[in-house]
Amino acid sequence: TDTPVTILGLGLMGQALAGAFLKAGHPVTVWNRTASKADRLVAEGAQPAPTVGDALKAGALTIVCLTDYQAVHDVLDTGVNLDGTTLVNLTSGDSAQARDTARWAWQRGARYLDGAIMAIPSAIGTAEAVILHSGPKPDFDAHAATLGALGTVTYLGEDPGLASLYDVAGLTMMWSVLNAWLQGTALLRAAGIDAATFAPFAAQIATGVAGWLPGYAEQIDNGSFPAEVSALETDVRAMKHMVQENETAGINAELPKLIKAMADRAIAAGHGKEQYPVLIEEFTKP
Ligand code: NDP
Repeated sequence: TDTPVTILGLGLMGQALAGAFLKAGHPVTVWNRTASKADRLVAEGAQPAPTVGDALKAGALTIVCLTDYQAVHDVLDTGVNLDGTTLVNLTSGDSAQARDTARWAWQRGARYLDGAIMAIPSAIGTAEAVILHSGPKPDFDAHAATLGALGTVTYLGEDPGLASLYDVAGLTMMWSVLNAWLQGTALLRAAGIDAATFAPFAAQIATGVAGWLPGYAEQIDNGSFPAEVSALETDVRAMKHMVQENETAGINAELPKLIKAMADRAIAAGHGKEQYPVLIEEFTKP
């Protein structure tokens, strides 16, 4: 807890990160373009740095959390000395940006880890906050204990793009589940049933489906999709009802139609007698 930590970027997330390090007892140096955003943290014991260069000099570990990678370059590609510093960039972006920024930092003598925060600011500092990291393992190991003040810290591998890749895969899950829930909610609301009535039922389904994932993943990894539970052609008959019911209700049917269209294509490709995860072939096409 005596390892100094520097935070560049004090937006909603950066302030939460700095707060969690302070709470864990670390000496914390902060810098933000709009200096006034440091006021509350300074009152809590953080050290304000007048310039990015001063902030970097305060210690060996610097956490970067800005709007996007352009902002990261605006702040760090300014001739400041990065030699010997470890940058942990928790700014959201895609994997190519992460790899480019890693190369850029390495060329300037910095150590670089890229990360992704899968949590909201209020969860930072609790186990609920999952924070993904990727990049050179020794650099992660050197700071894992310190980074642990932020939440559940996970290391994914040497490729600095991995954290962003997992982040996007996770967001795909999150939005898909939410969209499915909203679709079901809209359908029931059209019949006068409120969202709160459907929510517990929807949660039960989501939990049930989550339980299928390990077995289905095994089918995908083995490239073999025996219909142990249900054949795709059986599923598609239910999808027809799903599309019809949504259309009859006069609500948006884009999502039900997309679900059915992908299954139809898999059946046309000869997969009707196989199990649902065979659709991975449809998802793998450009
Ligand atoms: P905010 O909009 O609250 O803060 C943005 C920060 O970036 C501010 O410190 C801002 O400085 C700074 N900034 C933007 N552009 C520049 C620039 N050109 N030069 C210098 N500083 C710049 O965003 P958040 O804190 O919410 O998000 C930060 C990152 O964390 C994002 O990548 C976001 O995707 C990620 N994240 C956020 C989550 C959330 O729930 N908030 C959840 C998971 C990830 P200034 O104050 O001067 O404007």
